[in-house]
Amino acid sequence: MDSRAFVADGHDTRKLQLLRRELNEQLRRFSRRDGQSGSLRLLCECGRCREEIDVATERFERANANGGRWFVKDGHPVGAATPQATTR
Ligand SMILES: [Zn+2]
Repeated sequence: MDSRAFVADGHDTRKLQLLRRELNEQLRRFSRRDGQSGSLRLLCECGRCREEIDVATERFERANANGGRWFVKDGHPVGAATPQATTR
C-alpha cells in the first residue's frame, strides 16, 4: 500500500503538515518574486486534506516570524505540535 496517501495519523500527519508548510513557504517566495502582495493561496496545513485557503501574505509572514502556528481551513484539526517545534 502506498504510505504516501494523504490521510494519515499521528506523526505521519505531522510530517505532512511540515511538508505543506514547506510548500507554502515556496508559494510565498514565488508570489513575492512576482511582485504580488495581498493574499496567498496556500494549502491547508492540517495534513489531512487537499484543500486550499486564502491567507493574507502579511498574516502568513507574521505567523512565521513568531512560529508555532498552522494555517488550516475552519474546522480542520491542527494537532498539538507547532511548526516551530519540529523545524527550527
Ligand atoms: Zn485541511
